[in-house]
Amino acid sequence: MSRSWQGGSTRAWRKLRARVLHRDGYRCRIELPGCTTVATHVHHTLGKAAGDDPAHLLAACAHCNLKTGQPTADPAPQPRTRW
Ligand SMILES: [Zn+2]
Repeated sequence: MSRSWQGGSTRAWRKLRARVLHRDGYRCRIELPGCTTVATHVHHTLGKAAGDDPAHLLAACAHCNLKTGQPTADPAPQPRTRW
């Protein structure tokens, strides 16, 4: 049994990510308001715990990926406080 990096960036993940980005043509598939359309991230539609199956991965721009977060651990939107 080989020890892989838990939750980190592995060689396999980088390869898979590149494949998903290529599959989706480097276009964001989430397209939330404010989307930059240029996919540089890969979003786990089922959360990272579900594993790295390309069927559950979507190319996403940084904006959408950070906005969407993990569906399994979605923090409530917090109102921005102005000081
Ligand atoms: Zn986007």
